[in-house]
Amino acid sequence: MCGIFGMTGVGAVAGTLKALKLLEYRGYDSAGIAARREGRIDICKTEGRVAKLEELVCSLKETDVAIGHTRWATHGAVCTANAHPFLSQNGKFAIVHNGIIENYLELKKKLGDDVHFTSQTDSETAAHLLERNYQGNVLDAVLHTARQLKGSFAIVITTVYDEKLYAIKSKSPLIAGISQKGACFCSDIRCVSHWATSVAVTPDNTVAELSSDGVRFFDFSGNPLSVPFFAPEKAEAYESVEGDFMLKEIREIPARLRIAKEGYVRSGGLHLSAEEARRLKRIYLIGCGTAYNSGLQVAAVARQWLNLDIFSVIASEFIYDNYIADGRSLFFFISQSGETADTVRAAERVTKSGGLTYAVTNTSESSLTFVCKRTTNIYAGAEYAVASTKAYNCQLQTLTLLLLDLGRMRGSVSDALYMEIFGGMNFLPEAIGDIIDNSRILINLAETIKDCSAVFYIGRTADYPTACEGSLKLKEISYLHSEAYPAGELKHGTLALMDPAVAVVAISTCDALRDKMASSITEVTSRGARVISVSPDVFTDATPVILPKIHPALAGIVSVVPLQLLAYYVAKALGRDVDKPRNLAKSVTVE
Ligand code: GLU
Repeated sequence: MCGIFGMTGVGAVAGTLKALKLLEYRGYDSAGIAARREGRIDICKTEGRVAKLEELVCSLKETDVAIGHTRWATHGAVCTANAHPFLSQNGKFAIVHNGIIENYLELKKKLGDDVHFTSQTDSETAAHLLERNYQGNVLDAVLHTARQLKGSFAIVITTVYDEKLYAIKSKSPLIAGISQKGACFCSDIRCVSHWATSVAVTPDNTVAELSSDGVRFFDFSGNPLSVPFFAPEKAEAYESVEGDFMLKEIREIPARLRIAKEGYVRSGGLHLSAEEARRLKRIYLIGCGTAYNSGLQVAAVARQWLNLDIFSVIASEFIYDNYIADGRSLFFFISQSGETADTVRAAERVTKSGGLTYAVTNTSESSLTFVCKRTTNIYAGAEYAVASTKAYNCQLQTLTLLLLDLGRMRGSVSDALYMEIFGGMNFLPEAIGDIIDNSRILINLAETIKDCSAVFYIGRTADYPTACEGSLKLKEISYLHSEAYPAGELKHGTLALMDPAVAVVAISTCDALRDKMASSITEVTSRGARVISVSPDVFTDATPVILPKIHPALAGIVSVVPLQLLAYYVAKALGRDVDKPRNLAKSVTVE
């Protein structure tokens, strides 16, 4: 969630502003910068976007030390008073924070009534604690503060007492970067990859001190730690677009699927030993939001040809449940950013209990890849729209390839079936390209859906996860009420909600279940709801969006595309900010 940054070097305010623009995908409730100069720290902050901060930031004098923040609010309303950075009461320390300080109420009480809080946030507590703990040595104050905090936090600190930057890190991501021009702390490795020649991933429970001599790391007791620096993989350069990133990213799906398939083949596939594959008892696909839906989808498909139990589990549920995670369990942790806190926590849990772990991600140097034993890149390319689209299609294809390889190793997938599905992937780009080229029908349908009181998405077996993803996309960016249901489940309660103000999107790609879907459609139209069918088939009483015929194992990669487009066009028809929808962040780094 929040993006944090701090740098030392010439032009620190301008450099921090530039970094905040790249970090804005992590939250855009408010933004702020603190600039340290001899003897004082000045702050400029505002509710709203970094663009608004940019208009105001000229009030800050340029300097050599600055910290900055872009917020996704967890504690305290969205307003300027709750925007980071926060100053300690005497103005000698300023902090920016990503995460949640879980014991902040207790700490606030300890600080007593003399300390005046200017915000409702948990984060401000850290600034006041630093002031309270300072007894002539900044590093000691930082270490003392680190030991008092509970929860998840990456905190970057500037102080009038010296020209260094300090950081405290537990669970939230924090990268240290060095270049000839200076040094920085940052939430995101991609953001610093063009600027820094050398980076380090700060380990959990670490305090870091950044000065002109480099970066020193300590555990919370003050013992020095050795943390390796390495040359970062250069991220794709940010290119602005005419129009919306979301539409651009949907249009990239055909090309990205081609690149992703080639990338997977080049990477050598599953990298599991024959013995590990033979011993397996179960597979877990774990993620949140869209990544969870991709696991759900691929589990439904792979159950047809893998003689193993396959579970798809929401990461935040997995952490606190009691699933078997021994050496006979194979785990795929799915996260576009590789920083999703719930997914990283779940992977950490499994690593301790001996499960085989894979990170399936779009970011090859991320918290998730450092936790998991193996990594498979989905090669979706940088995704800037906060609502994910092309990453979902690439996750589906990559997971299908991984599970196909596994099936082949275990003898449950014949060479013929493998070639059918593997070869079938070559038809995906064209099939999806045709859907994108024929978007007119979806633009028209969006006009009829935008005024609905609710939109339900229904499907059976492998079409149900597609319904979940279509529904999630619509609610994320249009704010319409939407739910996904297994079609057969409607009659157990939800039919009560059907009326003429409701739209139902029925996804049907499985020949064997066609008649069942026809009955579900009749059930809802009988109660006045209007239906859009998304299928190679046409259904009585439903407006058809016709899909190309595709191998059933790959149908979900295609059938979701009209739903992504529909969500986009509904949101546009409602005048929403599709690339930065409300209350959403691209990288959810708090549990
Ligand atoms: N808890 C802090 C706030 O609400 C930081 C939130 C975050 O990292 O997402 O301001």
